[in-house]
Order: sequence, then structure tokens, then C-alpha cells
Amino acid sequence: APSDTDFDVIVIGAGPGGYVCAIRAAQLGFKVACVEKRETLGGTCLNVGCIPSKALLQSTEDYHGAAHDFAREGIIIEGIKVDLAKMQANKQGVVDANTKGIEFLFKKNGVTWLKGFGKVTAPYTIDVAGKSYKAKHIIVASGSESSPLPGVEIDEKVIVSSTGALELPAIPKRLLVIGGGVIGLELGSVWGRLGAAVTVVEFFDRIAPGMDGEVAKTFQKILAKQGFKFKLSHKVTKVEKTASGVNVTIEKVDGSGTEVIETDIVLVCVGRRAVSKSLGLEEIGVALDERGRVKVDEHYATNVAGLYAIGDVIAGPMLAHKAEEEGVALAEILAGQAGHVNYGAIPGVVYTWPEVAGVGKTEEDLKAEGAEYKVGKFPFTANGRARAMGCTDGFVKVLADKKTDKLLGAHIIGPDAGTLIAELTMALEFGASAEDVARTCHAHPTLSEAVKEAALDADGRAIHI
Ligand code: FAD
Repeated sequence: APSDTDFDVIVIGAGPGGYVCAIRAAQLGFKVACVEKRETLGGTCLNVGCIPSKALLQSTEDYHGAAHDFAREGIIIEGIKVDLAKMQANKQGVVDANTKGIEFLFKKNGVTWLKGFGKVTAPYTIDVAGKSYKAKHIIVASGSESSPLPGVEIDEKVIVSSTGALELPAIPKRLLVIGGGVIGLELGSVWGRLGAAVTVVEFFDRIAPGMDGEVAKTFQKILAKQGFKFKLSHKVTKVEKTASGVNVTIEKVDGSGTEVIETDIVLVCVGRRAVSKSLGLEEIGVALDERGRVKVDEHYATNVAGLYAIGDVIAGPMLAHKAEEEGVALAEILAGQAGHVNYGAIPGVVYTWPEVAGVGKTEEDLKAEGAEYKVGKFPFTANGRARAMGCTDGFVKVLADKKTDKLLGAHIIGPDAGTLIAELTMALEFGASAEDVARTCHAHPTLSEAVKEAALDADGRAIHI
């Protein structure tokens, strides 16, 4: 008879990769356990990532609208103020509801939560809290953590990672963000909207690396209008705590000058790295790549029999939905089905205001490939709904093959870009042409008409510009 230490599948880590994989594997009839060392399920995403950051982005957007934008519509609010403790409590409530939700789903699907730290001790064998478990398939979904910046010690009080930046007990007057990537810009927006003067220091000469260049330029201009200061092509050489805050020394990348910036809080957001060194993987011979990520084949198998990996701990974009797709695909592969992830159609979204979203190839990708492509573009200034919302910043851009009209990529900066990109992701997934999108009837007046018009513009026949 099967014992309580024998499973078909044991997943290490209950983030979006791990918990989704565990649930899908259970649906497919496997006996499944999921190991998680945190007090709550949901991983980085639900506890200290996507969900709490979106809760704070929502609250601060609401506040900023009420304080600065409503008056334009004739809504006058006097004496508006922020109760930060309540805002933080609301955020925690959102997180708790989500993490409890995963606990419920585990129970519903018969997934056993093995509480504690998991260490792989031999193929098919894992140790959790002093007890040994066996499984036919062990799946590493241990995720990622903030990359440190050499010489800068995070205290999560004045020098913080994204985790500390989600927990600040008071609104800083000045916030310096090291790293102009997605997470830094989102958290900079949170505190900027509440009144902090935000400075972003970025090594490269542009923000949001990987994003379509034209979109990134517009994004930077819009953020600058909101009060962000950017120090591009600069590196941080020293971070020093003082009696009144922190002094940050920055140096131009070309070595042409240094500057000291005084700030109250420093947010270190220089990327994330795989959590792969503490689980006993190297000891049993699992191969890692040069960045410490677990190496897998196209079926998520490592070089050790019975051991697989998914999510942030393997190569690819560090995104919750990418991890989830891999979790489902792997569970299905283990069940003999044809699980598969289309890496060419994974959307990326920045949840600032306005939002920024992209899927497929950027113009820079296409130029590098020497591809022949055409561009269709439509500004939100020409969209009736965006005007009614008072959100006319930004545009939709579609990239299609010059000869075949096949959609190659799509990029949106504007209101609700993260929701609008879903349609274009579906189009890309189905191998649609720009013409297919252009011929689809879109409801009026909606922001999605800008998507249709951009697709029409790829053929030079947009109506409203
Ligand atoms: P994780 O979510 O990191 O989960 C791994 C889990 O494994 C953790 O809970 C960890 O405790 C556990 N674990 C690790 N080792 C062990 C062990 N040995 N034993 C037991 N347990 C272990 N992505 C988006 O798509 N959209 C967003 O809006 C977004 N916002 C973000 C905002 C912030 C501030 C941050 C930091 C990240 C954000 N991300 C976002 C990224 C997203 O959180 C990650 O891509 C996602 O969580 C990766 O999922 P995962 O399952 O691979 O790993």
C-alpha cells in the first residue's frame, strides 16, 4: 500500500510555477505533494511580488486620481489624505485572501502541503523537515530572489529590496531606485504617487531593457511628466548611510563624472537570480547554467533522471504566467500528454499608469533578424473612450510581416494596456495576420478600437487618423 512518504510527484516551491503544476498533476490523477518553506502558499508572486505590488499600485492610483485628476471632471474633494497603515493593511488582506485561496485549492485537489525546507538528497528522494520522501518525479520550482548589488547591504529599512519597498511604514520624501526595470518603475510609481520625489539610476542608456525601444522612450517621457527623474548611463559606486538618510554616489558610465545624491530610501532593483544553490541539486549532479539557473531540455527534464525544473529557476522571462504555463505543460508531459509552451507569445506588462504591454517581437528584434516588416500605429488621443477617460497618453503598435501580413509582435502603452494585449496575444497564438485583427468587429466606444485601428494602419487604412 502507498505510504504517506511515497508520491508520484513532489514539487519544491509553491509559487505560480509550483502550485499550478501541483494542481494540474493532481487533476491528471497523480498523487502529489508540494514542499513550501514559507508560512503561506503562493511564492514570491502572491506574498511579496505581483499581488501586493498591484494592491499598492491600485490604491495609490485611486489616491492620485482623487487628489489630482478628479477636479478636471468637476469632482472636488477637499481634505483628502492618505492613511498608509490602512492602505498597507488592505494590501495584506488582498495577499492573505490569495494565499488562503491556494490552500483551499490544494485541499480541493488533494495536494499535500509538506511544510518546511526541501532538500534533494538523491535521485527520487527529498528531505523535508527531517523526514525523507520518495517520488517518481521531483519538480524544482524554487523560483528567484532579488540580486544583490555588491557592496550594498540591504537592511529592508532604508536600503530596501522590492520586499522592503512594499512594506515602508511612512511615505519617504525622496526615493532613489537603483535599476530602471519593471519592478523598480512600478514601486517608484507607488511611492511617487504618494508624494515621494523619485530618482531612477540606470546603467543602460534607456529604461525597461527588452521593451520595444519606441515604447520605452515614450514611457520614460510620460514618467518624467509624472515627476520621475532619470539618471541613465550611470552606475552606483557607493551607498552610505548618514544620520539623516543615505548618500548615493553615482558615476557616468563613460567615467566623465560623479555625483552624490542624498535620499531617504534606496530601493535596490537590479534584477533577480535563480534560487538553485541551496536545494542539494549540484551535489547530485544537476547541471546549472552560467547564471545559476537549472538547465532543462524542451520537456523541462534536467540531466538527472526523475528531476525537472520550471519557472524563475530556469531560463526565460521571470514572469508568473510563464511559470504557470510551464507548470501545466510539465504536468501534462508527465501524464503522457502533449504539454507545450509557446515562448513566442508570452505577454509582458508593466502596471504603471499608463500601463505598458508587449508580446512577440520588438522592432529591435526584427531589425536584428533583418526581417522585412511593416508597422501599424494608432494613438490613444484619437480614441473616443480614452478621451472620455482623460487618458490619452500612448499608442498601440503592431508589427507584421511585410509580405505575408502575419502578426509578429504588438506593443501598447496606454490605459489598460495589460488587458488590451490579451487580444493580440491570442492573435499571435493563432498565427493571425494584421488583417484578421483589422477585420474583427470591436465594440464602440472601447479602448480596444485602438488595437483594431493600429492593425488597419499596418495596411495604411486606419479610419480615425
Ligand atoms: P516563486 O514565486 O519565487 O516561488 C518559489 C517558492 O519556492 C517560494 O515560495 C520559496 O519559498 C519556495 N522555495 C524555494 N526553495 C525551497 C526549498 N528548498 N524548500 C521549500 N520551499 C522552497 N510577475 C508577473 O508575471 N507579473 C507581475 O506583475 C509581477 N510583479 C512582480 C513584482 C515584484 C515586486 C516581484 C519581486 C516579482 C514580480 N513578478 C511578477 C515576478 C513573479 O513574482 C515571478 O516570476 C514568479 O513568482 C515566479 O514563480 P515561481 O513559481 O517560479 O517562483
